[in-house]
Amino acid sequence: MTSETSAAAQAHFHWRVHQFHGLRPGPRLLVLGAVHGNETAGTRGVERVVAELDRGAYTIERGCVSFVPVANPLAYARGQRAGERNLNRNLRPSAVPQDFEDRVANLLCPLLDAHDALLDLHSFQGGGEAFVMIGPEDNTGTLEPFARAAEETRLARHLGVRRIVDGWLPVYETGVARRRARVPGIGNALDLDPNYGVGTTEYMRSRGGYAMTLECGQHLDPQAPEVAYHAIRQALALLGLAAIALDPPRTDHERLRLVDVVDRLHPEDRFVRAWASFDPVAAGEPIAVRHDGRLLAAAADGYVVFPNDKAEPGHEWYYLAQPSGRELG
Ligand SMILES: [Zn+2]
Repeated sequence: MTSETSAAAQAHFHWRVHQFHGLRPGPRLLVLGAVHGNETAGTRGVERVVAELDRGAYTIERGCVSFVPVANPLAYARGQRAGERNLNRNLRPSAVPQDFEDRVANLLCPLLDAHDALLDLHSFQGGGEAFVMIGPEDNTGTLEPFARAAEETRLARHLGVRRIVDGWLPVYETGVARRRARVPGIGNALDLDPNYGVGTTEYMRSRGGYAMTLECGQHLDPQAPEVAYHAIRQALALLGLAAIALDPPRTDHERLRLVDVVDRLHPEDRFVRAWASFDPVAAGEPIAVRHDGRLLAAAADGYVVFPNDKAEPGHEWYYLAQPSGRELG
């Protein structure tokens, strides 16, 4: 990250929002594509829906829907996850923006503030089926207090995907606490700060909205843009924004909760095999080996999630999830 890069990037990119208001009051929905620049399924889905609105296939009859087809235009132009940094971490407005993503955040955060619901469309590197990440159950705690879980789960159930995952911020905070304990005295590094776990959906909930991240499939899966397109239309239908037929919610949801995160500590720490997200593991099954030969095994039956064999030492290496008994309403 250099100031030269930032200056050039600021001159070469603008930030596009398509906004449609109904003439009657109603819910305000925000749809984001390409928060990560190499995740284009949402961009394609948004383009199709905006084209349908443009040609009058349906209209926004109440409330409002806003589409940002490319939330991170620098990362998108480069075909990379991040521009100068990951837009989906430490998301907040800043009076003195330090990089390209800080400047995007100063546009994105007020837009999030002005909406009720966020559908953030992503894709992932490994194989596997699409899934949706939702927030916590209603609670009055300090980490992520929330009161709109019923609305959030209702929308999540209608997006058309089977797997519903929660537990991101509590597990992220657990990882931060362990990192702090390992490296006492280093308090300011970004991944030692629980705020670093705040992306679009956590920011949205902190501002009184509700939000979900739809992981539409593998980055290059031709079906992923279809998943995004279907989800956007079902969100418009469910919220009563447009006269689109609403499909019944799926009845076969798999509910998983992230329960732990393991950091890589040494460049020679390695997985025992090439894990894909949501590969099942049985209690006692080896997952990885530390550089000193210590085996890391699953403490209980569950799933390996977001394994990253390119993780830097000191950073998240893989997460573990378990079936959740959470009621989805
Ligand atoms: Zn992403």
